[in-house]
Amino acid sequence: MERYQLFIGGKFCDAVDGETRFTYNPATEEPIAEVPVGKKEDARRAIECARKAFDSGIWSNMSVRDRAKILYKVIERLKEKEQELATLEAMDAGATIRKTSMMDIPVGIEHFRLLVELAEKIPTYEPLPWIDFPYVSWNFVNREPIGVCAGIIPWNFPFMMTVWKVAPALVMGNTVVLKPASDTPLTALEFAKCAAEAGLPDGVLNVVIGSGSEVGEELCTNPMVDKVALTGSTETGRKVMKLCADTIKKVTLELGGKSPTIILEDADLDVAVDGALFGTFFHAGQVCESGTRCFVPSSIYDKFMEKMLERVKHIKVGDPLDYETTMGPVVSLAQYKTVTGYIELGKQEGARLLCGGKRPDGFEKGYFIEPTIFDNVSNQMRIAQEEIFGPVLAVIRYDDVDEAVRMANDSIYGLGGAVFSKDIPKAIEIAKRIRTGTVWINDYHLINALAPFGGYKQSGVGRELGPHGLLEYTQIKHIHVDLVMDRSKKFWYDYIFND
Ligand code: NAD
Repeated sequence: MERYQLFIGGKFCDAVDGETRFTYNPATEEPIAEVPVGKKEDARRAIECARKAFDSGIWSNMSVRDRAKILYKVIERLKEKEQELATLEAMDAGATIRKTSMMDIPVGIEHFRLLVELAEKIPTYEPLPWIDFPYVSWNFVNREPIGVCAGIIPWNFPFMMTVWKVAPALVMGNTVVLKPASDTPLTALEFAKCAAEAGLPDGVLNVVIGSGSEVGEELCTNPMVDKVALTGSTETGRKVMKLCADTIKKVTLELGGKSPTIILEDADLDVAVDGALFGTFFHAGQVCESGTRCFVPSSIYDKFMEKMLERVKHIKVGDPLDYETTMGPVVSLAQYKTVTGYIELGKQEGARLLCGGKRPDGFEKGYFIEPTIFDNVSNQMRIAQEEIFGPVLAVIRYDDVDEAVRMANDSIYGLGGAVFSKDIPKAIEIAKRIRTGTVWINDYHLINALAPFGGYKQSGVGRELGPHGLLEYTQIKHIHVDLVMDRSKKFWYDYIFND
């Protein structure tokens, strides 16, 4: 069994007290690797290394083009290990190999490349309007890195989230301390190996595994950290924002969701039914932007639901390492208990269980849950308001589109959503009325690395990806150059002189 180490200051090392734990394959419940359990002191060491690397200018003073040259080497190294990473991700996170080998790893690497390429096009110099009265001056804005950035990530897309935190921060000239989720740290540590092999200068990237209360809180409170970027639950987001307040850190938060899928009467049924199922059951529903509330018009309700209950049978639950499997287990026993708890709650609240709701027959081990669909759901029920983060869909019937939009927006969250209709102008009108950061029309989940991703309301603060996401890793400085060198013309100096 492989034994992993923390990555601090360019070196692989154990936790300060030598403590280790196992990570488990959620499909078999068997241990797959031994990893260190980092402590506050490990986080402090990593922060010091990141600070020193940043302040030395070895990375921050390099041109974007030179940084990109090194990052392209990291990308090359990741590409060479693509299949190995896909298998590791499937074992660590319970994600299907079908998904990790077609999406998580290759698309994650592609996001890395696109973000680096995009950064090369972002000007660091922005001219300001010429001002020649009462003085002649040249004013411009210089875009600069923020400093030491902490990335704190969840367990659902460990590799992709590593890329989303590390790539934009590094290419814009920051140094990074990354804290993966304790349940799924392996591909982030493999990422660190690739960075070291590619020649990333020491201390520019550091990876510390450990709990939120130890490593996470140190990252949020240590004055040497300038920015914290968290992807996690809304509850953790609230804590992180409070912890960061004392040292006024910049924060970006990508948090939970309870996103709506609105089906219109004229939707193409094949696209809409499969789209709604894909929106919910992709990665067993453990996706922040999942479309877990599906609004279906009464006029097509029976036809739609009949088709949905037929199509859901084609989702094949099983061993994530089998290419035939399309849905794996949920990530851990804790998550299994949360999801099955919500299924019980849905029944108690009076929703009708149409399918699923239990461990599939023949599975004695592993945290497997059948694709579960409830209807007769009211938008006020807890299963329609709270993020379940598992394979559970709540179907809500509606009579009037305005009512559907009102219910879609009646949520503390605002991350994603979809509209299914053949009438594109109408779908765009509805998309504009949905108060979320992303709305897909006739599709779901397709993340574009060049488009901003993030949440309205309690789904987050700030954006990742695209130019907007890259700019979140910069700060702007106004530089004023006075072009008048004649003291007698600088009359404003005389505000303080009387001679
Ligand atoms: P989580 O909030 O429990 O943990 C996320 C990370 O925060 C982990 O690394 C954890 O150790 C750390 N953490 C926990 N407490 C902390 C604290 N007090 N201080 C600092 N760090 C702390 O989330 P999870 O269960 O790992 O992931 C699932 C959640 O993530 C869901 O709510 C999901 O919607 C959300 N998510 C959001 C996005 C997005 O882009 N908006 C993407 C993926 C997941």
